[in-house]
Amino acid sequence: MPTLAATATQAGSAAGMIILILTIVTLGYLTACMIRPFRRCRRCNGTGSRRSLILRAGRTCRRCDGHGEHLRTGRVAINYLRELHDKGTPR
Ligand SMILES: [Zn+2]
Repeated sequence: MPTLAATATQAGSAAGMIILILTIVTLGYLTACMIRPFRRCRRCNGTGSRRSLILRAGRTCRRCDGHGEHLRTGRVAINYLRELHDKGTPR
């Protein structure tokens, strides 16, 4: 007669843990995007100007248009979804 032992399966808990971690990371990033929507421009390091390669003359950073910062990717997505929601389809 085989003995049957009650065991807890581990397969479901690993997938659940991954989903939980991804949810926490996503909510944390979205919260960061709501609190600080702008980030420093990586190309000009937040100065808004860059030196050209040939004459080393100061030029306005093309990536941030001289502002020194730009919207985070998550905030761009939030703004797009909000605009899409606000426009909506009239009933
Ligand atoms: Zn820049």
